[in-house]
This record gives sequence, structure tokens and C-alpha cells, in this order.
Amino acid sequence: MLTLAHLQNSMLHDVIKYLLSAGALALLLWLLRERLQGRRLQARRPTPANYRREIGWSLLTACLFAGASLVGIFWVARQGWSQLYWNLDEYGLTYAGYSLLLMIVAHDAYFYWTHRLLHQPRLMRWAHRLHHLSRTPTPWAAYAFHPGEALLHTAFPILFAFVLPVHPLVQLLWSIHMIVRNVIGHCGHELMPRWMIRSGWFDWLTTTTHHDLHHQYGRHNYGLYFTWWDRWLGTEHPEYRARLASAVGLTGWVAAHRAEAQRG
Ligand SMILES: [Zn+2]
Ligand SMILES: [Zn+2]
Repeated sequence: MLTLAHLQNSMLHDVIKYLLSAGALALLLWLLRERLQGRRLQARRPTPANYRREIGWSLLTACLFAGASLVGIFWVARQGWSQLYWNLDEYGLTYAGYSLLLMIVAHDAYFYWTHRLLHQPRLMRWAHRLHHLSRTPTPWAAYAFHPGEALLHTAFPILFAFVLPVHPLVQLLWSIHMIVRNVIGHCGHELMPRWMIRSGWFDWLTTTTHHDLHHQYGRHNYGLYFTWWDRWLGTEHPEYRARLASAVGLTGWVAAHRAEAQRG
């Protein structure tokens, strides 16, 4: 059975989760550098200073996440103030699965709207500008946030535990999904398989191209995991689909698709 001590440890491991996720993807990109050359999204190369800045701020964010989780989630739960529960049987596995999906969908909405807020001029200057110093992001930029922005992000799992009953294992799985998607979004190479893009069935998932365009131009594509908020609110980069197709060598396919659509 999971105990508070186990979970406190797992939350304190935020730094390790960041280093492992970003490090594993950076290593993979290096090992496959020849094969992935065509999938590189920008001609510009990140400098050693870029890497140092991204890693330094990300480590600080991971420490803030761990501290805020311990206080905001576990200490608050011990006081009986939130809906965190410890026994999986209390609501069953099906509920745990649904609560994980709901947490991911809710986080995507929270991220979209707080991200739009962070792009307001004053907040941009004060906090979010730091993340945008990475014009050519690398996997290490996943947590490169100003402490003010980091605290805004860390508020989500705390608030979620007040709204719905959530098991710490669900929170752990959500945090692993969050860091993995984050390092992929910043890795500078389009990793989605060509067949997934061609099929059109996975169009609702964000890609590295999606977030890379946000870093290149400083606007459009505010979403984190899903493309729907940007589509509903008209904030998707107008060239997103074409850039994504071109990143995986589907340029001819896009032209044929457009011609077909015009004929139809
Ligand atoms: Zn931004
Ligand atoms: Zn970013």
C-alpha cells in the first residue's frame, strides 16, 4: 500500500524525473542525429549558454514543484482540507483511470488560459519572457520558467485535488505524462510518425512543431497536449499543418490534399 512517505519521496524526485526525461531524449536525439537530420525544425543551433540557462532554471522549477507539492498537496490533505484519498479501493480503478484522463484534459485547459494570460505585456515582461529566451528550444527547456510562472503551473495539481477526489498514484502518472510531453514539445525535432500525421486521426494531439512555432514567433499555439483550444479560439499558427507535414517530408502530400479540397 502506498504511504505518505513513499509519495513524499516520489514528489521530491521531481529533479530526477526532469533529468531522466530530458537526458534520455537528448541522448536519443544525439544517437539518431543522422536519421533525424531532416526532422530538425530550425536551422539555428542552440548555444552552450542556451543549455546552461535552460538547465539552471529547470532545476529551480523542479525544486519548487517538489516543495509546493509537499505543502500544497500532502500537508493540505493531512489537514483534511482537500479530496486526496489514499486507498485505491475507495473509488475503484475505473474511477482512477477516468480521473487521470480528466486531470490531463483539465490541465491542458488550465495551461492554455494561464499561458494566454502570461502573454499579456506586463506578465510577459515580468515572468514569461524567460521561457521565451529559448528561441530554439531543447529538451532541457521543459521546465525553464521564472519562479512566478513555475508557481502558477504548480498550482494546478493542488487546485485539482480540491475539486475532485484524486489518488496520489494518479497525480504521479499525470506528472510523468506532463514532463514527458514537455520534453518532447521542446526537443526541436518532429518525432510524430509520418503515418500518424497522414492518417489525420491524431490531429488533436500537439506535436513538437506545434510548440516550436510558439517559441519561434512568440505567439500562436498556446496549447500544451491538445490542439483543440487553439482551434476553437483561432490562435493556431496559420502555417501549422503545412509546417508539420513538411517536417516529416509530406510536402507533396499536402499539396495534393489542398488541390483535392479545392476541387471538392
Ligand atoms: Zn509563451
Ligand atoms: Zn515552451
